Amino acid sequence: MRYAIISDIHGNLPALQRVLVALDEEDVDCYLCLGDVVGYGASPNECCQRVRQSDAICVRGNHDAAVVQPRKEDWFNPEARACLLWTRQQLTPQNRQWLASLNSTAQIDDVLLCHGSIPDPDYYITTPQGAVFSFEAMATSLAFFGHTHYAEWYAYDGTEQLPSQHSHPDGGICRLEEGYQYLINPGAVGQPRDGNPQASFAVYDDERREVAIRRIDYDIPAAQQKMFAAGLPQSMALRLSLGI
Ligand code: ZN
Repeated sequence: MRYAIISDIHGNLPALQRVLVALDEEDVDCYLCLGDVVGYGASPNECCQRVRQSDAICVRGNHDAAVVQPRKEDWFNPEARACLLWTRQQLTPQNRQWLASLNSTAQIDDVLLCHGSIPDPDYYITTPQGAVFSFEAMATSLAFFGHTHYAEWYAYDGTEQLPSQHSHPDGGICRLEEGYQYLINPGAVGQPRDGNPQASFAVYDDERREVAIRRIDYDIPAAQQKMFAAGLPQSMALRLSLGI
């Protein structure tokens, strides 16, 4: 099986479309989505539609939760909150219902999916120490997470020592070795923050036992234009060019 892993699309349709074309060429069997389909970008409904059409197994991100739960916007900074309130007004009832139906974790075959971390969907895994909580909660050897918008992975052999951290903002291949557990972040499709503005995604090949993180150019000005036209905060559009 070949699995496509996408995360943190954030309503960025030009990025999602480009990634889906690339994944078509990758010949994948199954789509996995780690949440934050909406929030920030100007195309929340179109992004929900595309993910739903792909039959992806999808978990719920913190932005997805916030648009369907009243008062959750209080947790966000003013600009993210402005995006959330706008997104809430735009969403069709069907897409709102779909987002509300998502669980915070999911398992398919021997792969676990979560948004921020296994025990807590809102937790940011950014350090080996922070990854330990998820490794301890994993019954599988492989899990995918998102939320930080960094393309990277952690490997752990279950000893007293901390997991190793491997940052790959330009993409890379993680070969899965016996005796290790892996937590892998495919990076963000729609709002990378690891210094590389290219859209990020991953492909897991369970026969070859490897996960490839790939980066790809997309039409950033088109995504920005949509955001300007929608009246979304300028800084949220400008950051797309910088990958921050
Ligand atoms: Zn996100």
